[in-house]
Amino acid sequence: MSGTLSFEDLKVRVEEGEVDTVLVCLVDMQGRLMGKRFHARHFVASAWEETHCCNYLLATDLAMATPEGYAATSWRAGYGDYVMKPDLTTLRPMPWLEGTVMVLCDVLDHHTHAEIPHSPRAILKRQLRRLDAMGFDAMMATELEFFLFENSFDELRKQGYRDLAPLSGVNEDYHILQTTKEEHVMRPLRNHLWDAGIPVENTKGEAETGQEELNIKYAPALDTADFHTIAKHATKEIAWQQGRAVTFLPKWSADKVGSSSHVHQSLWKDGKPAFYDPEDDLGMSALMKSYVAGLLKYAADYTYFLAPYINSYKRFQKGSFAPTRIIWSIDNRTAGFRLCGDGTRAVRIECRVGGSDINPYLAMAALLAAGIKGIEEGLELEPPFKGDAYEGSSAHIPHTLRDARAALLASDMLRAAMGDAVIDHYARAAECEIEDFNRVVTDYEVARGFELA
Ligand code: ADP
Repeated sequence: MSGTLSFEDLKVRVEEGEVDTVLVCLVDMQGRLMGKRFHARHFVASAWEETHCCNYLLATDLAMATPEGYAATSWRAGYGDYVMKPDLTTLRPMPWLEGTVMVLCDVLDHHTHAEIPHSPRAILKRQLRRLDAMGFDAMMATELEFFLFENSFDELRKQGYRDLAPLSGVNEDYHILQTTKEEHVMRPLRNHLWDAGIPVENTKGEAETGQEELNIKYAPALDTADFHTIAKHATKEIAWQQGRAVTFLPKWSADKVGSSSHVHQSLWKDGKPAFYDPEDDLGMSALMKSYVAGLLKYAADYTYFLAPYINSYKRFQKGSFAPTRIIWSIDNRTAGFRLCGDGTRAVRIECRVGGSDINPYLAMAALLAAGIKGIEEGLELEPPFKGDAYEGSSAHIPHTLRDARAALLASDMLRAAMGDAVIDHYARAAECEIEDFNRVVTDYEVARGFELA
């Protein structure tokens, strides 16, 4: 339901010549928009029903490689087609591109038209159906942090991503003067997203040179994931239009803080916040306590979905505002799970584990699966941690992608919630990242060992 344009409105706009291009997109495993640009007249005449794409789009990596080892598709299976079925409730203008609208697609089997279980939208929808059966809606918000750079993507690629110069030269946390220097990107970003039906709350400078944060108002989880994906895409495109580059890599320099994507979560019933109990000291209902206990108990199981690459794990550094331990606490930014809005109807839990590289559909689905399991098990919540959570004694968030992959593979909870095939598919994706990284020689190894080894 996240779109703003009805199919009837679109037909009128196409007839009047206002719209000539429709981007027909799926969301890939990495949380990116992939698809085709349709002539709008062809889209409204027939392509609105369905189009097709190569099924490797849900078995590839950031670089569009075709690694072996996926059960869903392979060279042997001939890399056939999926059906891309436009979800017309997601139709919206893309105001930063002339005459252009977009639609998100569900990904279906070419023959049976059943939803492809490892497609990110399908994975989230499955958890939302479980919640619906329990009578709950999930209201979520994701924060997007990223860095802006002086040069363009093309220039930086040609120079091997060296000498990266963030736009603002000083820490710009909440800084109005420094962020004014970035308004040529951020103002059109806020306004274009708003006009695309994405409820932007604000942007602000973050705690590094050139680091910005975009906040979007909380919404039903599927809408939030759509908003996140489109907003991230828009950030890259608008920066590109202005001759700038932007990165969502969680840690692009060892000397800089990382970029995160915190996920705010609350469950609602019949339009009322089911996490709120005015009788409780902190305003937390018993339901919320069990949900949060589930998030804590299963944190290692789902960390992969919050930190899917080798680089994601470089963010988890002491004293960096990124968490290191599986701890919950009240309005405490050193904890992995921070209680926000305590004592009010806005009481919610913020998971601070995810990096700016999350696929929001997968991240939210995994968090919901853990929270639902906590409710089903009627888990008791331990008392909140007080103080510096970096000094806490609770378990550590998995240190590496290898550890997180092992926890994912061994997770009975996620296997039951998402299905064995889905877990094995993403465990293979994690393994591909590890294999690729192990193959290359890094700058660090050369600098460390060239002369001294
Ligand atoms: P922070 O202090 O972490 O930067 P913000 O005050 O910027 O937090 O708000 C974070 C997000 O929480 C916003 O996107 C907001 O829409 C969202 N939010 C507010 N209330 C709820 C709620 N009940 N459930 C989920 N998200 C919520």
